[in-house]
Amino acid sequence: MSFQDKRSKEAFARANLVLPGGVNSPVRAYKSVGREPVFIERGQGARLWDIDGNSYLDYVLSWGPLILGHAHPVVVEAIKKAAEGGTSYGAPTEIETDLAEEVIKAFPSMEMVRMVNSGTEATMSALRLARGVTGRNKIVKFEGCYHGHGDSLLIKAGSGALTFGVPTSPGVPASIATETLAAQYNDLEGLAEIFKLYGDDIAAVIVEPVAGNMGVVLPQPGFLEGLRQLTQEYGSLLILDEVMTGFRVSYGGAQGRFNIDPDITCLGKIIGGGLPVAAYGGKRKFMEQVAPSGPIYQAGTLSGNPLAMAAGLATLRLLQEDGVYEELERKTTRLAEGLKAIAQELQLPIWVNSVGAMFSAFFTNQPVIDFKSACTSDSQRFAAFFRGMLEKGVYLAPSQYEAVFLSTAHNDADLDYTLEQAREVLKSLR
Ligand code: PMP
Repeated sequence: MSFQDKRSKEAFARANLVLPGGVNSPVRAYKSVGREPVFIERGQGARLWDIDGNSYLDYVLSWGPLILGHAHPVVVEAIKKAAEGGTSYGAPTEIETDLAEEVIKAFPSMEMVRMVNSGTEATMSALRLARGVTGRNKIVKFEGCYHGHGDSLLIKAGSGALTFGVPTSPGVPASIATETLAAQYNDLEGLAEIFKLYGDDIAAVIVEPVAGNMGVVLPQPGFLEGLRQLTQEYGSLLILDEVMTGFRVSYGGAQGRFNIDPDITCLGKIIGGGLPVAAYGGKRKFMEQVAPSGPIYQAGTLSGNPLAMAAGLATLRLLQEDGVYEELERKTTRLAEGLKAIAQELQLPIWVNSVGAMFSAFFTNQPVIDFKSACTSDSQRFAAFFRGMLEKGVYLAPSQYEAVFLSTAHNDADLDYTLEQAREVLKSLR
Protein backbone atom coordinates (compact mmCIF):
# COMPACT_ATOMS: atom_id res chain seq x y z
CA MET A 1 0.00 0.00 0.00
CA SER A 2 1.35 3.41 -0.84
CA PHE A 3 1.76 6.08 1.78
CA GLN A 4 -1.45 7.92 2.72
CA ASP A 5 -1.88 10.93 4.96
CA LYS A 6 -5.39 12.23 4.36
CA ARG A 7 -6.67 11.37 7.85
CA SER A 8 -3.55 12.68 9.58
CA LYS A 9 -3.97 15.98 7.75
CA GLU A 10 -7.58 16.23 8.92
CA ALA A 11 -6.60 15.30 12.47
CA PHE A 12 -3.88 17.95 12.48
CA ALA A 13 -6.27 20.62 11.24
CA ARG A 14 -8.72 19.73 14.02
CA ALA A 15 -5.98 19.65 16.65
CA ASN A 16 -4.71 23.05 15.55
CA LEU A 17 -8.00 24.64 16.58
CA VAL A 18 -7.61 23.62 20.22
CA LEU A 19 -3.93 22.79 20.86
CA PRO A 20 -1.17 25.36 20.24
CA GLY A 21 0.48 24.22 17.02
CA GLY A 22 -1.73 21.16 17.10
CA VAL A 23 0.43 19.35 19.66
CA ASN A 24 1.22 19.01 23.34
CA SER A 25 5.00 19.22 22.86
CA PRO A 26 6.54 21.37 20.12
CA VAL A 27 8.82 18.95 18.26
CA ARG A 28 5.86 16.70 17.45
CA ALA A 29 4.62 19.32 14.98
CA TYR A 30 7.52 18.52 12.54
CA LYS A 31 8.27 22.24 12.14
CA SER A 32 11.84 21.73 10.92
CA VAL A 33 11.20 18.97 8.39
CA GLY A 34 8.76 20.63 6.05
CA ARG A 35 5.66 18.50 6.38
CA GLU A 36 2.75 17.89 8.71
CA PRO A 37 2.92 15.21 11.38
CA VAL A 38 1.35 11.78 11.10
CA PHE A 39 -1.12 10.89 13.86
CA ILE A 40 -0.47 7.62 15.64
CA GLU A 41 -3.07 4.99 16.35
CA ARG A 42 -1.04 2.28 18.08
CA GLY A 43 2.35 0.74 18.63
CA GLN A 44 3.57 -2.83 19.02
CA GLY A 45 7.18 -3.92 19.39
CA ALA A 46 9.39 -1.91 17.03
CA ARG A 47 6.39 -0.70 15.00
CA LEU A 48 3.95 2.18 14.95
CA TRP A 49 0.71 2.44 12.98
CA ASP A 50 -0.85 5.76 12.04
CA ILE A 51 -4.52 6.57 11.55
CA ASP A 52 -4.19 6.28 7.75
CA GLY A 53 -3.01 2.68 8.13
CA ASN A 54 0.68 3.30 7.36
CA SER A 55 3.10 1.32 9.50
CA TYR A 56 6.57 2.38 10.52
CA LEU A 57 9.68 0.99 12.13
CA ASP A 58 9.98 3.34 15.08
CA TYR A 59 13.37 4.82 15.96
CA VAL A 60 11.91 7.54 18.20
CA LEU A 61 10.35 5.23 20.81
CA SER A 62 8.49 8.07 22.50
CA TRP A 63 11.78 10.02 22.56
CA GLY A 64 13.63 7.30 24.42
CA PRO A 65 11.52 5.62 27.09
CA LEU A 66 10.48 2.53 25.12
CA ILE A 67 13.74 0.59 25.17
CA LEU A 68 11.66 -2.62 25.19
CA GLY A 69 9.56 -1.44 22.25
CA HIS A 70 5.84 -0.61 22.30
CA ALA A 71 3.36 -2.46 24.50
CA HIS A 72 5.79 -5.03 25.87
CA PRO A 73 3.45 -7.72 27.29
CA VAL A 74 5.16 -7.87 30.69
CA VAL A 75 5.00 -4.09 31.10
CA VAL A 76 1.38 -3.94 29.92
CA GLU A 77 0.46 -6.69 32.38
CA ALA A 78 2.17 -4.84 35.24
CA ILE A 79 0.25 -1.66 34.42
CA LYS A 80 -3.06 -3.55 34.13
CA LYS A 81 -2.55 -5.26 37.44
CA ALA A 82 -1.68 -2.00 39.13
CA ALA A 83 -4.68 -0.21 37.60
CA GLU A 84 -7.07 -2.84 38.90
CA GLY A 85 -6.05 -1.85 42.41
CA GLY A 86 -6.69 1.84 41.85
CA THR A 87 -4.73 4.45 39.92
CA SER A 88 -3.44 6.78 42.62
CA TYR A 89 -3.60 7.07 46.40
CA GLY A 90 -1.50 10.08 47.38
CA ALA A 91 -0.15 7.90 50.18
CA PRO A 92 3.00 5.78 50.43
CA THR A 93 3.20 2.43 48.64
CA GLU A 94 5.90 -0.24 48.78
CA ILE A 95 6.46 -0.22 45.05
CA GLU A 96 7.96 3.28 45.32
CA THR A 97 10.66 1.84 47.56
CA ASP A 98 11.04 -1.16 45.22
CA LEU A 99 11.78 1.12 42.28
CA ALA A 100 14.03 3.37 44.36
CA GLU A 101 16.06 0.33 45.44
CA GLU A 102 16.49 -0.78 41.82
CA VAL A 103 17.62 2.70 40.82
CA ILE A 104 20.14 2.88 43.63
CA LYS A 105 21.52 -0.53 42.69
CA ALA A 106 21.99 0.63 39.11
CA PHE A 107 23.41 4.05 40.05
CA PRO A 108 25.65 3.73 43.12
CA SER A 109 26.19 7.53 43.20
CA MET A 110 22.49 7.86 44.06
CA GLU A 111 22.24 6.98 47.73
CA MET A 112 18.70 8.34 47.95
CA VAL A 113 16.19 9.21 45.27
CA ARG A 114 12.97 11.22 44.86
CA MET A 115 10.45 10.26 42.19
CA VAL A 116 8.88 13.00 40.08
CA ASN A 117 6.80 13.05 36.88
CA SER A 118 8.99 14.52 34.14
CA GLY A 119 12.60 15.21 33.29
CA THR A 120 11.87 18.91 33.56
CA GLU A 121 10.75 18.44 37.15
CA ALA A 122 13.84 16.36 37.92
CA THR A 123 16.30 18.98 36.66
CA MET A 124 14.43 21.91 38.22
CA SER A 125 14.40 20.11 41.55
CA ALA A 126 18.06 19.16 41.23
CA LEU A 127 18.98 22.82 40.70
CA ARG A 128 16.95 23.89 43.71
CA LEU A 129 18.70 21.24 45.77
CA ALA A 130 22.14 22.36 44.59
CA ARG A 131 21.31 25.99 45.31
CA GLY A 132 19.80 25.08 48.65
CA VAL A 133 22.74 23.09 49.93
CA THR A 134 25.47 25.40 48.63
CA GLY A 135 23.74 28.71 49.37
CA ARG A 136 24.87 29.84 45.89
CA ASN A 137 22.74 30.98 42.95
CA LYS A 138 24.68 30.51 39.73
CA ILE A 139 24.63 27.41 37.64
CA VAL A 140 26.58 26.42 34.54
CA LYS A 141 25.02 24.66 31.56
CA PHE A 142 26.47 23.71 28.19
CA GLU A 143 25.26 25.06 24.92
CA GLY A 144 23.27 22.44 22.99
CA CYS A 145 22.38 20.45 26.10
CA TYR A 146 18.66 20.35 26.90
CA HIS A 147 17.45 19.82 30.42
CA GLY A 148 13.73 20.46 30.09
CA HIS A 149 11.94 23.78 30.14
CA GLY A 150 12.65 25.16 33.61
CA ASP A 151 13.38 28.91 33.59
CA SER A 152 17.03 28.52 34.64
CA LEU A 153 17.64 26.03 31.84
CA LEU A 154 15.99 27.64 28.82
CA ILE A 155 19.17 29.57 28.33
CA LYS A 156 21.77 29.91 25.60
CA ALA A 157 25.09 31.70 25.48
CA GLY A 158 24.93 35.43 24.90
CA SER A 159 27.24 37.11 22.42
CA GLY A 160 30.83 37.54 23.53
CA ALA A 161 33.24 34.93 24.77
CA LEU A 162 32.27 34.67 28.40
CA THR A 163 28.85 35.97 29.06
CA PHE A 164 25.80 35.36 31.13
CA GLY A 165 23.15 33.30 29.49
CA VAL A 166 20.22 34.82 27.64
CA PRO A 167 16.71 33.33 27.62
CA THR A 168 15.75 31.17 24.65
CA SER A 169 12.08 31.87 25.33
CA PRO A 170 10.02 34.93 26.08
CA GLY A 171 8.70 34.65 29.61
CA VAL A 172 12.04 33.69 31.14
CA PRO A 173 13.08 36.74 33.17
CA ALA A 174 16.48 38.17 32.22
CA SER A 175 17.24 38.31 35.94
CA ILE A 176 16.99 34.53 36.09
CA ALA A 177 19.04 34.12 32.93
CA THR A 178 21.92 36.03 34.49
CA GLU A 179 22.23 33.26 37.08
CA THR A 180 22.92 30.71 34.33
CA LEU A 181 26.36 30.69 32.73
CA ALA A 182 26.69 29.05 29.34
CA ALA A 183 29.77 26.98 28.50
CA GLN A 184 30.76 24.96 25.43
CA TYR A 185 30.51 21.18 25.49
CA ASN A 186 33.89 19.43 25.58
CA ASP A 187 35.66 22.73 26.33
CA LEU A 188 37.28 22.34 29.73
CA GLU A 189 39.45 25.41 29.32
CA GLY A 190 36.43 27.62 28.78
CA LEU A 191 34.81 26.14 31.84
CA ALA A 192 37.95 26.72 33.91
CA GLU A 193 37.80 30.40 32.88
CA ILE A 194 34.19 30.62 34.03
CA PHE A 195 35.13 29.07 37.36
CA LYS A 196 38.03 31.49 37.76
CA LEU A 197 35.61 34.39 37.43
CA TYR A 198 32.54 33.07 39.22
CA GLY A 199 33.57 29.83 40.94
CA ASP A 200 32.60 30.90 44.44
CA ASP A 201 29.05 31.71 43.27
CA ILE A 202 28.47 28.54 41.27
CA ALA A 203 26.06 26.11 42.91
CA ALA A 204 26.30 23.46 40.22
CA VAL A 205 27.33 22.41 36.76
CA ILE A 206 24.61 20.49 34.94
CA VAL A 207 25.51 18.40 31.92
CA GLU A 208 24.24 15.62 29.70
CA PRO A 209 27.15 13.19 30.17
CA VAL A 210 26.52 12.08 26.61
CA ALA A 211 24.68 14.89 24.87
CA GLY A 212 21.57 13.76 23.03
CA ASN A 213 19.82 17.03 22.35
CA MET A 214 22.17 18.49 19.73
CA GLY A 215 22.18 15.09 18.16
CA VAL A 216 24.39 12.59 19.95
CA VAL A 217 27.71 14.12 21.01
CA LEU A 218 30.18 12.11 23.06
CA PRO A 219 32.22 13.51 25.92
CA GLN A 220 35.84 13.59 24.86
CA PRO A 221 38.27 11.66 27.05
CA GLY A 222 38.91 13.71 30.18
CA PHE A 223 35.92 16.04 29.80
CA LEU A 224 33.67 14.48 32.43
CA GLU A 225 36.65 13.84 34.72
CA GLY A 226 37.59 17.51 34.33
CA LEU A 227 34.06 18.58 35.27
CA ARG A 228 34.22 16.42 38.37
CA GLN A 229 37.56 17.87 39.35
CA LEU A 230 36.70 21.53 38.76
CA THR A 231 33.40 21.33 40.62
CA GLN A 232 35.08 19.64 43.54
CA GLU A 233 37.82 22.25 43.64
CA TYR A 234 35.28 25.08 43.93
CA GLY A 235 32.74 23.35 46.17
CA SER A 236 30.12 23.24 43.41
CA LEU A 237 27.92 20.25 42.75
CA LEU A 238 28.10 18.15 39.60
CA ILE A 239 24.65 17.25 38.25
CA LEU A 240 24.57 14.58 35.56
CA ASP A 241 21.35 14.80 33.58
CA GLU A 242 20.89 11.18 32.59
CA VAL A 243 17.24 11.57 31.62
CA MET A 244 18.14 10.28 28.16
CA THR A 245 21.31 8.27 28.85
CA GLY A 246 20.18 6.48 32.02
CA PHE A 247 19.52 2.78 31.27
CA ARG A 248 20.35 3.54 27.62
CA VAL A 249 24.10 3.96 27.11
CA SER A 250 24.46 1.21 29.70
CA TYR A 251 22.19 -0.05 32.47
CA GLY A 252 24.06 2.24 34.88
CA GLY A 253 23.93 5.15 32.43
CA ALA A 254 26.83 7.26 31.25
CA GLN A 255 28.24 7.49 34.77
CA GLY A 256 28.53 3.72 34.88
CA ARG A 257 30.04 3.58 31.44
CA PHE A 258 32.56 6.37 31.98
CA ASN A 259 33.05 5.83 35.71
CA ILE A 260 32.05 9.28 36.96
CA ASP A 261 30.73 9.90 40.47
CA PRO A 262 28.35 12.92 40.39
CA ASP A 263 26.71 14.59 43.38
CA ILE A 264 23.23 14.53 41.86
CA THR A 265 21.76 12.54 38.98
CA CYS A 266 18.55 13.19 37.05
CA LEU A 267 16.73 10.28 35.46
CA GLY A 268 13.62 10.06 33.29
CA LYS A 269 12.31 8.31 30.19
CA ILE A 270 13.27 4.60 30.57
CA ILE A 271 12.82 4.67 34.35
CA GLY A 272 9.07 4.99 33.74
CA GLY A 273 8.78 2.34 31.04
CA GLY A 274 6.61 4.65 28.93
CA LEU A 275 4.64 6.22 31.78
CA PRO A 276 5.41 9.64 33.26
CA VAL A 277 8.25 9.05 35.72
CA ALA A 278 11.49 10.83 36.36
CA ALA A 279 13.71 11.05 39.41
CA TYR A 280 16.53 12.93 40.99
CA GLY A 281 18.89 11.59 43.57
CA GLY A 282 22.41 11.63 44.85
CA LYS A 283 24.56 11.73 47.91
CA ARG A 284 22.64 11.08 51.12
CA LYS A 285 23.96 14.26 52.78
CA PHE A 286 22.34 16.30 50.00
CA MET A 287 19.14 14.31 49.57
CA GLU A 288 18.45 14.46 53.28
CA GLN A 289 18.02 18.21 52.79
CA VAL A 290 14.90 17.57 50.66
CA ALA A 291 11.50 18.00 52.36
CA PRO A 292 10.23 16.54 54.61
CA SER A 293 13.57 15.34 56.00
CA GLY A 294 15.10 18.73 55.22
CA PRO A 295 14.04 22.28 54.37
CA ILE A 296 14.37 22.25 50.55
CA TYR A 297 10.83 22.01 49.27
CA GLN A 298 9.64 19.79 46.44
CA ALA A 299 6.41 17.79 46.12
CA GLY A 300 3.96 16.18 43.66
CA THR A 301 0.34 14.99 43.75
CA LEU A 302 1.02 12.10 41.37
CA SER A 303 4.70 11.50 42.22
CA GLY A 304 5.41 7.81 42.71
CA ASN A 305 2.14 6.93 40.96
CA PRO A 306 1.47 3.18 41.27
CA LEU A 307 0.88 2.55 37.55
CA ALA A 308 4.02 4.43 36.64
CA MET A 309 6.09 2.67 39.30
CA ALA A 310 4.82 -0.70 38.06
CA ALA A 311 5.77 0.09 34.46
CA GLY A 312 9.20 1.33 35.51
CA LEU A 313 9.94 -1.61 37.75
CA ALA A 314 8.87 -4.17 35.14
CA THR A 315 11.05 -2.41 32.56
CA LEU A 316 14.15 -2.27 34.74
CA ARG A 317 13.82 -5.94 35.70
CA LEU A 318 13.65 -6.99 32.06
CA LEU A 319 16.69 -4.87 31.28
CA GLN A 320 18.71 -6.77 33.88
CA GLU A 321 18.64 -9.97 31.85
CA ASP A 322 21.98 -11.19 30.51
CA GLY A 323 23.22 -9.76 27.25
CA VAL A 324 20.50 -7.12 26.78
CA TYR A 325 22.91 -4.18 26.46
CA GLU A 326 25.45 -6.07 24.36
CA GLU A 327 22.71 -6.88 21.86
CA LEU A 328 21.30 -3.34 21.90
CA GLU A 329 24.74 -1.94 21.22
CA ARG A 330 25.47 -4.48 18.48
CA LYS A 331 22.30 -3.50 16.63
CA THR A 332 22.89 0.21 17.16
CA THR A 333 26.43 -0.02 15.85
CA ARG A 334 25.27 -2.06 12.89
CA LEU A 335 22.68 0.53 11.89
CA ALA A 336 24.93 3.52 12.54
CA GLU A 337 27.89 2.06 10.66
CA GLY A 338 25.59 0.84 7.89
CA LEU A 339 24.21 4.32 7.33
CA LYS A 340 27.69 5.79 7.34
CA ALA A 341 28.94 3.28 4.77
CA ILE A 342 25.99 3.97 2.44
CA ALA A 343 26.44 7.75 2.65
CA GLN A 344 30.16 7.42 2.01
CA GLU A 345 29.58 5.15 -0.96
CA LEU A 346 27.20 7.76 -2.36
CA GLN A 347 29.75 10.47 -1.58
CA LEU A 348 27.44 12.34 0.75
CA PRO A 349 28.96 14.08 3.76
CA ILE A 350 28.27 12.15 6.95
CA TRP A 351 29.47 12.06 10.53
CA VAL A 352 28.22 9.44 12.97
CA ASN A 353 28.33 9.52 16.78
CA SER A 354 27.12 6.32 18.42
CA VAL A 355 27.09 4.93 21.96
CA GLY A 356 25.04 2.25 23.69
CA ALA A 357 21.55 2.18 22.18
CA MET A 358 21.61 5.68 20.65
CA PHE A 359 23.31 7.41 17.74
CA SER A 360 23.10 10.35 15.37
CA ALA A 361 24.11 10.62 11.74
CA PHE A 362 24.93 14.24 10.91
CA PHE A 363 25.02 15.42 7.32
CA THR A 364 28.43 17.05 7.66
CA ASN A 365 32.06 16.14 7.03
CA GLN A 366 33.24 17.74 10.25
CA PRO A 367 33.73 15.87 13.49
CA VAL A 368 30.75 16.75 15.70
CA ILE A 369 32.05 17.48 19.19
CA ASP A 370 29.95 20.42 20.36
CA PHE A 371 26.99 22.63 19.44
CA LYS A 372 28.90 24.66 16.88
CA SER A 373 30.10 21.64 14.95
CA ALA A 374 26.64 20.01 15.20
CA CYS A 375 25.27 23.11 13.50
CA THR A 376 27.47 22.54 10.45
CA SER A 377 25.17 19.73 9.38
CA ASP A 378 22.85 20.24 6.46
CA SER A 379 19.43 20.31 8.08
CA GLN A 380 17.67 20.75 4.73
CA ARG A 381 19.20 17.50 3.54
CA PHE A 382 18.16 15.89 6.80
CA ALA A 383 14.59 17.16 6.32
CA ALA A 384 14.44 15.55 2.87
CA PHE A 385 15.92 12.34 4.28
CA PHE A 386 13.35 12.34 7.07
CA ARG A 387 10.43 12.81 4.67
CA GLY A 388 11.73 10.11 2.34
CA MET A 389 12.19 7.63 5.17
CA LEU A 390 8.77 8.38 6.63
CA GLU A 391 7.05 7.61 3.35
CA LYS A 392 9.00 4.35 3.17
CA GLY A 393 7.87 3.28 6.61
CA VAL A 394 10.78 4.35 8.80
CA TYR A 395 9.94 6.75 11.60
CA LEU A 396 12.89 8.95 12.59
CA ALA A 397 12.90 11.91 14.94
CA PRO A 398 11.78 14.95 12.93
CA SER A 399 14.99 16.92 13.47
CA GLN A 400 18.67 16.59 12.65
CA TYR A 401 19.48 17.41 16.26
CA GLU A 402 17.96 14.34 17.86
CA ALA A 403 19.11 10.83 18.57
CA VAL A 404 18.11 7.61 16.85
CA PHE A 405 17.02 5.11 19.51
CA LEU A 406 17.07 1.33 19.30
CA SER A 407 14.99 -1.10 21.35
CA THR A 408 15.17 -4.78 22.20
CA ALA A 409 12.23 -5.21 19.81
CA HIS A 410 14.18 -4.20 16.69
CA ASN A 411 15.57 -7.23 14.87
CA ASP A 412 18.15 -7.64 12.13
CA ALA A 413 15.49 -7.86 9.42
CA ASP A 414 14.22 -4.45 10.62
CA LEU A 415 17.73 -3.05 10.33
CA ASP A 416 18.14 -4.57 6.85
CA TYR A 417 14.89 -2.93 5.76
CA THR A 418 15.93 0.40 7.27
CA LEU A 419 19.30 0.34 5.51
CA GLU A 420 17.76 -0.60 2.16
CA GLN A 421 15.30 2.28 2.37
CA ALA A 422 18.05 4.65 3.52
CA ARG A 423 20.08 3.75 0.43
CA GLU A 424 17.15 4.57 -1.84
CA VAL A 425 16.39 7.85 -0.11
CA LEU A 426 20.02 8.96 0.11
CA LYS A 427 20.52 8.16 -3.59
CA SER A 428 17.74 10.56 -4.43
CA LEU A 429 19.42 13.27 -2.33
CA ARG A 430 22.76 13.36 -4.14
N1 PMP B 1 16.90 16.22 30.20
C1 PMP B 1 17.22 15.59 29.07
C2 PMP B 1 18.63 15.17 28.84
C3 PMP B 1 16.24 15.34 28.11
O1 PMP B 1 16.58 14.71 26.98
C4 PMP B 1 14.91 15.75 28.36
C5 PMP B 1 13.79 15.51 27.37
N2 PMP B 1 14.12 15.10 26.13
C6 PMP B 1 14.64 16.40 29.56
C7 PMP B 1 15.64 16.61 30.46
C8 PMP B 1 13.24 16.86 29.88
O2 PMP B 1 12.43 15.78 30.14
P1 PMP B 1 10.83 15.93 30.01
O3 PMP B 1 10.54 16.12 28.57
O4 PMP B 1 10.32 14.63 30.57
O5 PMP B 1 10.44 17.09 30.84
